[in-house]
Amino acid sequence: MTVIKLVNFLRLEERNGTDASSIKVTPEILQDDKYLQPTLEDDALLFEMGDYLPDLPSDQNTRDYDDYEAALSKQVPDDLEKVTIQNHRDTDYFDSYKGAGIHREMIEDKIRTEGYRDFIESHAHLFKDKVVLDVGCGTGILSLFCARVGAKKVFAVDNSDIAVRAKQNIARNGYEGVVEVIQGKIEDFHTQRLIGSNKVDIIISEWMGYGLLFEGMLDSVLRARDLYLKKDGLMVPSHCTLRVAPVSDPAWIAEQTGEKFWTDVYGFDFSPMLAGGLLGERDIGVYDVPKSAICGSPSTFYTIDIANITVKELDFTASFESKLEKDIESLDAFAIWFDTFFLPPGSKQDLETPDILSWGKNSEEGGAFSTGPFGTATHWHQAVTMLKKEERGQALKAGSTLKGTIKYEKERRDVRGIVVDIKWEGEGKNGPVSGTLSRVMA
Ligand code: SAH
Repeated sequence: MTVIKLVNFLRLEERNGTDASSIKVTPEILQDDKYLQPTLEDDALLFEMGDYLPDLPSDQNTRDYDDYEAALSKQVPDDLEKVTIQNHRDTDYFDSYKGAGIHREMIEDKIRTEGYRDFIESHAHLFKDKVVLDVGCGTGILSLFCARVGAKKVFAVDNSDIAVRAKQNIARNGYEGVVEVIQGKIEDFHTQRLIGSNKVDIIISEWMGYGLLFEGMLDSVLRARDLYLKKDGLMVPSHCTLRVAPVSDPAWIAEQTGEKFWTDVYGFDFSPMLAGGLLGERDIGVYDVPKSAICGSPSTFYTIDIANITVKELDFTASFESKLEKDIESLDAFAIWFDTFFLPPGSKQDLETPDILSWGKNSEEGGAFSTGPFGTATHWHQAVTMLKKEERGQALKAGSTLKGTIKYEKERRDVRGIVVDIKWEGEGKNGPVSGTLSRVMA
């Protein structure tokens, strides 16, 4: 705690322009809790120091992560809680990326992998003789695509143990002279030292999570952008749009929630097994929604310009509007997905009008892929927020408009989690209908 106060105090003195030789650190300063307040937002040093914070005493006898977190939050002042919990969450997060299975799943997702490859290969001139930073290189696949089209140097950074394999993969393919693998967090000093002070021409990263922002990895990519990208450097991909559409298909919902299964078990009604709430009524589900279940026009509710957006703007409230394409008996859920765009530098390409599934066929610039219900399924599927069972059954008229707002927020206790709140109003068969829901992925 004292060290943290010291860091914040010294940073404050520096900001105030105090001459270094005249700074005096007194016991009063180190006892003053105001210096627990970080002077720098996202201070990498403070984050690193999470490692040195003491563990809970053994007599706490914590049983699982939730208990641990609860006990911890009692002990630690609010602003430190974030630092410590994030560290434990990080260990689990990076462990989840160390095996071959998860990387195979991503590589086998052709929409994803070929989306990146096709953009790189069809824009080889952008990469030729350039310095590239691959944030979260995994197996090294994207770094190798860049090296193969002539990048001069690629820094391939990953904090997971997969970095060891990336290094071997890169050597096995003869690119060890071009691609330098660094195991570490992109935010860390150690990584900053190895990359050096020269800025890079291009940052490439595959950071997208379920519902786009689950995992919070974009925060790290934006940090990398601010630390390492040259002015007017290129972000690959360059944009993502978030889209939403209403879902109506009671039979499909009953199948996904287990209602169908539990209400007919060898002829017995076992619906008490559903007591305590269906998973879909609390959590954001991840499903491939059948096209036939989408009952209204998709609405783009948020556009992320990766070169310019800030971390703060990743918590947002935005409006949507969908036109009902058919009469429905029951509004059951909302499906959310994202589309990803790779625009070349300076492009003014409109993202909204062209059909993303045939991107490039009508001379659209760059590349794009969709994770929506209308194209080939991807490993992201769609994020689905279901209405509670008792709230389903709102009948809506074909041609009417369903409109409302969607709020995305980081989960309070899990910086990699997200909370999605939706409010809506529509024209029902028997007058106006409206509703709200809040779902979490953590
Ligand atoms: N680029 C690879 C892997 C993408 S998965 C591919 O396209 O197949 C995302 C990877 O980013 C994971 O391996 C994860 O360990 C890494 N990662 C996430 N956040 C990171 C951070 N802050 N610093 C370093 N690596 C990170």
